[in-house]
Amino acid sequence: MQMTQPTTGNGTQNTGLRDVAAVGEAGTVALNWPVVQNALRQTVGDDDYNAWLAPLQLQKASAEGVVVAAPTSFVENWVKSNFMEALTTTIRAELGHVPVPVSLSVAPVFSVPAAKAPEIAPLPVAPAVGSQSSVQQPLQAPVQAVRLDPRYTFETFVVGGSNQLVFAAAQRVAANAGKGEAGYNPFFIHGGVGLGKTHLMHAIGWEMQARNPNIKLLYLSSEQFFNGFTRAMRERNSLPFKDTLRSVDVLMVDDLQFLAGKDGTQEEFFHSFNILVNEGKQVIVSADKSPQELANIEERLKSRLGSGLMVQVHAPQVETRLAILQAKAETLGVEIPAEVLTLLAGTIASNVRELEGALNRLVAASQLLGMPIDADFARGQLADLFRLHTRVATLDDIQREVANHFKIRVADMHSPRRSREVARPRQVAMYLAKQLTTKSYPDIGRAFGGRDHTTVMHAVETIPALMEKDPELAENVRILSQMLGGK
Ligand code: ADP
Ligand code: MG
Repeated sequence: MQMTQPTTGNGTQNTGLRDVAAVGEAGTVALNWPVVQNALRQTVGDDDYNAWLAPLQLQKASAEGVVVAAPTSFVENWVKSNFMEALTTTIRAELGHVPVPVSLSVAPVFSVPAAKAPEIAPLPVAPAVGSQSSVQQPLQAPVQAVRLDPRYTFETFVVGGSNQLVFAAAQRVAANAGKGEAGYNPFFIHGGVGLGKTHLMHAIGWEMQARNPNIKLLYLSSEQFFNGFTRAMRERNSLPFKDTLRSVDVLMVDDLQFLAGKDGTQEEFFHSFNILVNEGKQVIVSADKSPQELANIEERLKSRLGSGLMVQVHAPQVETRLAILQAKAETLGVEIPAEVLTLLAGTIASNVRELEGALNRLVAASQLLGMPIDADFARGQLADLFRLHTRVATLDDIQREVANHFKIRVADMHSPRRSREVARPRQVAMYLAKQLTTKSYPDIGRAFGGRDHTTVMHAVETIPALMEKDPELAENVRILSQMLGGK
């Protein structure tokens, strides 16, 4: 394989990006990035290439693998779900069909052309120690930090019952702008994937920067922490790394679960963590589980992590999911019929990232195919997702969603109360139970506080008749039915 001279422009559109053909470092291989870019453009077409692939940057090419960087996690996710195969195949082909692993992650220090992304402020971190030349600087910094994503702010975070507490806590921590307040330090956010942990950490970062522009914030993924640490070990000089960590006002480490089993790195984290917290500097950590549930994390680190404020972020309820989709559609500047949003919110329940991904896919498909977005289009385009998520609603689900929707207590589904405001929703729930499940009239009656099967039959006849006369009720029933997986 030959070495590639860094080139500028590739004859097509000048993306303004530095063409990094990793040169000279031990173990690196020459990958001609402009050639890869051109081939990708041929494969996916100009529109997709310009939108999604042009912003990618080659981070590293070595025998162990090729690392490609995306400017934001938004782009990262999109490329991963749509173009990862094209990217991998093209890179491997360019390397002579060597089956190297290809990975994609959000860029650490990223040379986004200023004209293209002026809103991305560089993250003020401690100055890179030991940097040699400007081109090499990103590779030489003792630790590579992530830029804060301009999309992830408190303003763009939709608050609902599932994340109210974590949101309030995050705002409180942010308001202290780095002065780790007792009781809030460390701040530990945990919860499942795609529920907004990273979003909230960036939001805290933005808010702190707004309050104190000179604040030294270091936001790292656990992987970056690990990489910084292992490089320091390899180079037998961990001082720059430690200095960088310990000179900040705020240290954020995202997805700590990735340090599981990496004892040396945990040790280093533990020390820096203690120093910072003891000096009253804010430390913010996220993980997919609570400290106690994290496997292969040292006990003393677990107990230290839980010693400040620990908050869980839960999966959002359907109203919040709808609000998130509405906000997202607004940001995308597209008009999406309510029934499509309801369909998505009703189907994809456990992960906001997936929810957003589904909306992005729909919008892109509608633009590419020139077709309007309606419920059928959504079902067709997202058939894979729907298959994955379509669960048969249980009687419990139906009672819960209907009670939530009409703002009555779930207990009222079973209670003997007959007043109109609980009786009508109860009838709706019985009707939906008959429509959406295979339960018999007596089964349904039993689930509704031991009511007689004739009561259920009556409801099943009454609701459609009422729907004919009452469009509002009809609309409510239709929305509920969709949320519960019906048509
Ligand atoms: P996590 O770090 O918990 O895996 P992220 O913070 O990356 O999740 O969130 C995944 C995606 O969902 C992001 O694009 C984020 O902006 C979005 N998201 C999650 N929760 C919310 C919310 N409550 N409001 C708006 N967007 C959200
Ligand atoms: Mg995250």
